[in-house]
Amino acid sequence: MSIDLSNLRQKFRERDYKLTPQRQIVLQVFIDNQDKHLSAEDVHNIVRQQSNDIGLATVYRTLELLSELDVLQKMDFGDGRSRYEINETSTPHHHHHLICLACGKVIEFEDDLMDELENVIAKNSNFTIVDHQVKFYGYCQECRKKRED
Ligand SMILES: [Zn+2]
Ligand SMILES: [Zn+2]
Ligand SMILES: [Zn+2]
Repeated sequence: MSIDLSNLRQKFRERDYKLTPQRQIVLQVFIDNQDKHLSAEDVHNIVRQQSNDIGLATVYRTLELLSELDVLQKMDFGDGRSRYEINETSTPHHHHHLICLACGKVIEFEDDLMDELENVIAKNSNFTIVDHQVKFYGYCQECRKKRED
């Protein structure tokens, strides 16, 4: 996945926001952790490990702004915390997620069998579908092993 920083700057400019150093630091966390789904607390911890001093409240506000600008995708995996990841604009649409109910791990999968289903639902409901999100809940390989032991 490639992140186009000039494209991001453009997004900020269009909406009259500046890509301030703090916002850039938060964004960099997501660029460095592209396979992760980070909460505000996760981002705050990573930023602190890099000895950058950004308060949790600022992290929250920055994440809200970045998702408003469609730079980040905000997700809810049902554990009471919002998680964020970089919005992939290069692909036609987002990958989907498997969520482990035991350890909370989030696994991404690319298989998309939804197109046909979308067509059926669109037809039956007379509704134009432009996107979808899919979450499957269950148990990851490690947790399944533990349960069998
Ligand atoms: Zn698990
Ligand atoms: Zn993801
Ligand atoms: Zn899909």
